[in-house]
Amino acid sequence: MTAWTMRRGKPSARASAVVQMRRDRLYDGELILVNKDHPVRRPAQQIVPVPDGILQASRREEPGILLERTCLALLSALLEACGGRTSIAVVSGYRSRAAQERLYATSLRENGADFTAKYVALPGASEHETGLAVDVGLYEGNVDYIRPAFPDRGACGVFKRLAAKYGFVQRYRADKTDRTGIACEPWHFRYVGYPHSVIMEREGLCLEEYTEFLKQYACGETHLYAGEGASLAEIYYVRAEEGDTPVPLPRASGARWRLSGNNKDGFVVTVYDPEGCDRHV
Ligand SMILES: [Zn+2]
Repeated sequence: MTAWTMRRGKPSARASAVVQMRRDRLYDGELILVNKDHPVRRPAQQIVPVPDGILQASRREEPGILLERTCLALLSALLEACGGRTSIAVVSGYRSRAAQERLYATSLRENGADFTAKYVALPGASEHETGLAVDVGLYEGNVDYIRPAFPDRGACGVFKRLAAKYGFVQRYRADKTDRTGIACEPWHFRYVGYPHSVIMEREGLCLEEYTEFLKQYACGETHLYAGEGASLAEIYYVRAEEGDTPVPLPRASGARWRLSGNNKDGFVVTVYDPEGCDRHV
C-alpha cells in the first residue's frame, strides 16, 4: 500500500502552453457542480449504453441504461475490483431532461411532495442528466428504483471502500444534507475523477464544498499536488473570464491532463504525472 500525499506547491514547469477556452466549456467536465442553484447547462457528452456484462435492474423504468463513457469504464473496473459483478446492479444512469420530468411527476403523484423533495432532484438539477451519476443496488431479483438497497456488507461494502480510488464519491451523505439539499443516498455515486474523489473523501468535502476548496489553488500561484507514492497529480483553478479564458496547459507531447469546468465560475486543470496510473484518467 503506497502512501497518499497531498501538499501545496509552486507551479511546475509542465504547464506552459496557453489555450483559449470558450465560456461554454464551463458547463462540462467531470467536476461540474450540479444542484438546484447550478442546473445542467449543456447536453451530456459521450453517452454510451451499459453493456450486457453489467447487471441492470430497471428494465421497466429505464430500459437500456446509459452512462458517460469514462464513468462507465471506471464503474466497470470498480465492479470487477469489488467482486460485485453478480451482486450489484446498475439501477439508474443518464436521464434526459424529459425523463427526469416524468420521474419527478410520477414520484409526486405516487410518493407525495415530502418524499419527492428529499430523494428526487428537480428537472435540470439532477446529476443524472450529466451521465456522470449512477445509482447502484444490491441485486436480489428486485431493486427499488428510487431508493435501492446498498448496504455496508459484502461486495457493496467493498464497492464503497474502493469507489474513490476509481474516481467515484458518494454524492449525498447524511452529514451534508444542509449543503446538498438532498437526503442521504448511499446508492448514488458521482464520477468526479481521481484524485479528486480521494481528496473529497479524505477532507470530508461534498462537491458544493470542494468546488470552493479548489479556488485556493489559483493557477500560477499555489498549486495542489495529490496522489499515491511518487505519482502526484498537479491541480489548479483558473477563474473564467467574460469571453474566452486563457488556460495554461502542459505543452509536452505525451503529457496527460484533464480540464473540467465547475459549472459555476472557473476551470480546474489536473495534470497527471507521466508515470501515473492509466486507469485513473
Ligand atoms: Zn441517483
